[in-house]
Amino acid sequence: MSFPECSPTRKGKPLPLPQEVVKMNLHNPQSMDPVCLTKLDAATASHQLTYRNITYHFCSAHCQERFSEAPVFFGAPRRFEEPHPIPKHHRLRVASVTQAIREMAGIRLCEVRGVNSVLIGDGYADIDYDLRLVSLNQVEAAMKDAGLPLKGWLHGLRRSLWSFVEHNELENLASQPSPCCSRAPIRVR
Ligand SMILES: [Zn+2]
Repeated sequence: MSFPECSPTRKGKPLPLPQEVVKMNLHNPQSMDPVCLTKLDAATASHQLTYRNITYHFCSAHCQERFSEAPVFFGAPRRFEEPHPIPKHHRLRVASVTQAIREMAGIRLCEVRGVNSVLIGDGYADIDYDLRLVSLNQVEAAMKDAGLPLKGWLHGLRRSLWSFVEHNELENLASQPSPCCSRAPIRVR
């Protein structure tokens, strides 16, 4: 069963444009959720954590958890300058469940921030998501909560490998120099 109606509007406000992001960030670096880039009032934000002596605020427990999984990526200044999506797709193997459970699980997974589309068949689930907004671990946890048990150890090993590779991808992105710093140095005679 397909749930093509998964859309950003169902998961809150649309993400701000890059120019707006930079402007807001320069105004007050603590006024924005570093994961989903939602503008926040730091005084009233209910979720926060401190990383390298900077306190970050979040719109939800989901975004706070996402940050703690990859603080090197989300805490990097370039994060605010280049908020491009990082699309991922996986076919996850799940135990056979009834059609009613599949339909409910599809609706619940569509509500998870960062999940773009869900296709649940007999024994599998095709998931498209944005790695910036949700990790594979978070997708797996949401699937278990929605009553879709994931298949055993061999598939578990494969998922661990995917998670590892995706985590490394974020850390590599964080460590790349910003485009403004990669220009050739100016020579003065
Ligand atoms: Zn958020």
